[in-house]
Amino acid sequence: MQIYDVVIIGGGIIGSAIAYFLKASPHFQGDVVVIERDPSYAKASTPRSLGGVRQQFSIRENIEIGLFGVDFVKRASQYLSVDNEPIELGWRELGYLFLASPEGQRILAENQQLQSQCGAKIEILNPENLKIKFPWLNTDGIALGSFGYEGEGWLDPSLLLGAFRAKARALGATFLYDEVTEIVKHKQKISSVILDSGVQVGCSFLVNAAGAWAGAVAELAKIQLPVVPKKRIIYGLDCREELNPKLPLVIDSSGVFIRSEGTGFVCGVSPPAHLDPDSWDDMEIDYPLFDDIIWPAIAHRIPAFEAVKVTNAWAGWYDYNTLDQNGVIGPHGEIDNFLFANGFSGHGLQQSPAIGRAIMELITFGEYRTIDLSRFSHERIIRGLALTERNVV
Ligand SMILES: Cc1cc2nc3c(=O)[nH]c(=O)nc-3n(C[C@H](O)[C@H](O)[C@H](O)COP(=O)(O)OP(=O)(O)OC[C@H]3O[C@@H](n4cnc5c(N)ncnc54)[C@H](O)[C@@H]3O)c2cc1C
Repeated sequence: MQIYDVVIIGGGIIGSAIAYFLKASPHFQGDVVVIERDPSYAKASTPRSLGGVRQQFSIRENIEIGLFGVDFVKRASQYLSVDNEPIELGWRELGYLFLASPEGQRILAENQQLQSQCGAKIEILNPENLKIKFPWLNTDGIALGSFGYEGEGWLDPSLLLGAFRAKARALGATFLYDEVTEIVKHKQKISSVILDSGVQVGCSFLVNAAGAWAGAVAELAKIQLPVVPKKRIIYGLDCREELNPKLPLVIDSSGVFIRSEGTGFVCGVSPPAHLDPDSWDDMEIDYPLFDDIIWPAIAHRIPAFEAVKVTNAWAGWYDYNTLDQNGVIGPHGEIDNFLFANGFSGHGLQQSPAIGRAIMELITFGEYRTIDLSRFSHERIIRGLALTERNVV
């Protein structure tokens, strides 16, 4: 049986980032294998993501994670270059603009204060200033906006995934294409995993980085993890009118979001609960969701969108934590060589650098050395203590 120091289940952005940070650390000397069942990533969340990076969160740790995320993205060539080739991630730093109704303005202002304390470049704009800065915006019903004027934007998720994988490989990580079908436990330790091919792989540490399938993977070790796939649909749009300045990622007070994408736009919404079942196989595009909820909201907020054409659409799965839509990070309380990096629910792409580093620290030093993520532990799941993030998109 081949034995690795660290076995990572899932080679999406999270598994690949963890492999990279382990192999890049001068303090970690072990072997790492990433086991990925589908090298085409046909159903994985990562390539279907919008690649958004922001600091506009309400939980301090999420803000700090976002700050490290953007720093990492901006210095990607320094971290991820192989053979001195520059790293191009398609980074567009156009900001996020959160809009609040009168009911939401207090929370928006509180969030901005915390974000600024942490060092994020977020400004508060009243309706008059919003109109000056973004003349295409209808500020009816808007009491306040918060805008990330530096450090927020989006990148191409497949480019970041490719760069993490290539660098992790160049540093000696192994990528194995197979499916983990069994997890073998001896007393309170994971000893190995068994693959679909019948191969058994031993490990000192096992990391669950299985994205939307993380709950099913945890179940292989008889552990409950409330992470399920939730379908999210992105609609691509063309609009005849040119908007100046270019659209940042605008999150309307209704929850509908829209941003620039090349010469067009992309938009979406988290559907209301009764239209949001766990969705294991369903990748159908829901056009009534666009017609009934998204289009009326964007046409109201940005009147130029009264005349738009849907040019394309795709669906993907959020790796959705049903307790509180936040990451579950770190070891299981009793099986301490089984670590979770799951449940990011729509913000896993931007969190991948900080999560990769955090899991490296736990494995290498047995503790967090940079951002303390103890509040995201699996323990909170067992105790049912939600860590509520107020800025979920
Ligand atoms: C439409 C959409 C838009 C999004 N927009 C953003 C955004 O703007 N910003 C942001 O930060 N995040 C965004 N996200 C969320 C982000 O994409 C995810 O949080 C992130 O990609 C999760 O990465 P992952 O590596 O955990 O999962 P994945 O990319 O899904 O990778 C998990 C991998 O595990 C493999 N796997 C599963 N089970 C097994 C097994 N038993 N054996 C072997 N392999 C296995 C799968 O094949 C898969 O490739 C978005 C998601 C969607 C769907």
